[in-house]
Amino acid sequence: MPHFLNTRDQSILPSGGENIVLFHPHVAKGTLEEIADTLQTRWIGQGPKVEKFETNFSAKLKLDHTPIAVGSCTDALHLAYVLSDLGPGDEVIVPVFTCTATSIPLLYHGVKLRFADLQADTMNIDPNHVARLVNERTKAIVAVHYGGLPCDMDELQEIADQVGVPVIEDAAQAVGATYRGKPIGAISDFTTFSFQAIKHITTGDGGMLMIKDVGLKSKAKRIRWFGIDREAKQGGTWANDISEVGYKYQMSDIGAAMGLAALKTLDQTLSLRRELFARYTEQLEAVAGVQVVGTGFTDREHAAWLCTVLAERRADLENKLREHQIESGQVHFRNDRYSIFANFRSNDLPNMDAVEETYLVLPLHTYMTLADVDRVCDTIRSGW
Ligand SMILES: *Cc1c(COP(=O)(O)O)cnc(C)c1O
Repeated sequence: MPHFLNTRDQSILPSGGENIVLFHPHVAKGTLEEIADTLQTRWIGQGPKVEKFETNFSAKLKLDHTPIAVGSCTDALHLAYVLSDLGPGDEVIVPVFTCTATSIPLLYHGVKLRFADLQADTMNIDPNHVARLVNERTKAIVAVHYGGLPCDMDELQEIADQVGVPVIEDAAQAVGATYRGKPIGAISDFTTFSFQAIKHITTGDGGMLMIKDVGLKSKAKRIRWFGIDREAKQGGTWANDISEVGYKYQMSDIGAAMGLAALKTLDQTLSLRRELFARYTEQLEAVAGVQVVGTGFTDREHAAWLCTVLAERRADLENKLREHQIESGQVHFRNDRYSIFANFRSNDLPNMDAVEETYLVLPLHTYMTLADVDRVCDTIRSGW
């Protein structure tokens, strides 16, 4: 029996079982029971299940930093930026290639974005370029583990330490990844996870901020909810002033119920994703004209959220796959192309320029089998 609830037949494509879609949400078995349990209590907004999810998530991934469950990874990133005290005049180094959710909240702060180039073989931020961008105005360094492969964290941390600024990891794609024996989420000052619909774990929408400095825990909890100290408020007396501006970024117990069920199948989710990724790597190794991104590392474990290839004549390959009812796509685009980031463009991003027309994301999700990967690889091998 599968360990998920939403069956393949419920695909939104009129597929007859033939389509291989790029993404599919994973709704764990046990989700309905967990939600039904929540709906029969007084707490459906932020209540005991949010706390339980924070505890269980940290325990499952062996994270000793403080978890703060929020409404999305974007919320978590914004809270990390607030806690890093970003403001006008500050510079933040951020990878040029990422989900816009990483960069847009930086615009709320009026900071200057310094786009860093990627490494062509991983598509992660290039520490060599970060070392050249860093200066006395740098206030934070943001790293994104593209596709689930951890960045060069030691190199990034060393640069951050030289100027005394936090590293903020956007680990939306890297639940379960490890770097030099440490789980992602227990390394940097701040790490953010996403539980959006198609991530490893979904709570519908949701996220988690992991904080290293316990001294920031109560402030983080307050600004998650307007700036109000919920525990003091529950004391029932009007003794709790609001002295800092907060947001409405909390997770709900309904979302947490989904997350609690998903945690129980996380091992299976990760091992299936890793098996599918390994199969792609093995099958495509000898195929001319494509190269799988982010393989061959022994000091870090891939969370296998995306399988990306660099392909010659990408549009032709995409069309060929589509003819065979296989979805593929770019998923993310270099952020400096968007008008909202026009002020931050630079012409010093050679690796981004080099892969821009070649990267392509192949289907990888828990509704796929090894035979599906073989079908994708056979199609690629037959030429395009
Ligand atoms: C999915 C994703 C996000 C956004 O997550 P939300 O939970 O939708 O806010 C941010 N960064 C990266 C790299 C992502 O993949």
